[in-house]
Amino acid sequence: MVVNILHMYPDLLNLYSDRGNIECMKRRLLWRNIDANVIELTTESENIDLNYVDIIFIGGGSDREQKIVCEKLLCIKNKIRKYVEDQKVLLAVCGGYQLLGKYYKIKDEMLEGLGILDIYTESSDKRIIGNIILENELFDNKIVGFENHAGRTFNNCYKPFGKILIGGCYNNFEFEGVMHENIIGTYLHGPLLPKNPLVCDHLLNKALKQKYEEFLSLSKLNDDLEISANSLFCKKFLGKRKF
Ligand code: GLN
Repeated sequence: MVVNILHMYPDLLNLYSDRGNIECMKRRLLWRNIDANVIELTTESENIDLNYVDIIFIGGGSDREQKIVCEKLLCIKNKIRKYVEDQKVLLAVCGGYQLLGKYYKIKDEMLEGLGILDIYTESSDKRIIGNIILENELFDNKIVGFENHAGRTFNNCYKPFGKILIGGCYNNFEFEGVMHENIIGTYLHGPLLPKNPLVCDHLLNKALKQKYEEFLSLSKLNDDLEISANSLFCKKFLGKRKF
């Protein structure tokens, strides 16, 4: 078995070790003797065939970088739409997540998004910066990460990625991100997957099931170290809040 992972625009969207998400997916596949093949689509790439791709990852970047990427993405909009319709896996973080929606409004400027998700984002003068903890019943552990964004994303249609327990947003927003079909869109940098191995395995399982009919489930790994780091993080930040 082999999983083909496409890293979209790592030359521009590469904030806060987002690349670690790629490394994490690759490692966790190799540790189970499943091959992982990483392909990079950069702003210099001529062409991309998404038929051979099993997982797409797109990270975050500044508004300036997002604008450049946005133009590139719109050129392959139909391919990405078909990819998503084929129920393939897509993980989008922060700036990448915003671009999946209908638009990202930055002051008076309107950045057209891919419109793959029925969400929209508007930037605010006040950035949200800090640690964030989510809760999602699918995962035994809390989802931990870091966020830094001016955009506020409005999701009125889909299941969220998680309920916010701690995070800059929690005064205005109760929920964070999108979990729809095989797409996860979220503001969590961190990088997300090494900090939350259960989320990583969730995506890998989805990709393998989508590709191989006979595939049942990934074997368990020893995640004691990751889980204890997660627990420490939660203890440190959740300890400060009263519910
Ligand atoms: N430029 C976007 C914002 O500030 C995304 C930032 C990011 O990807 N961290 O909202």
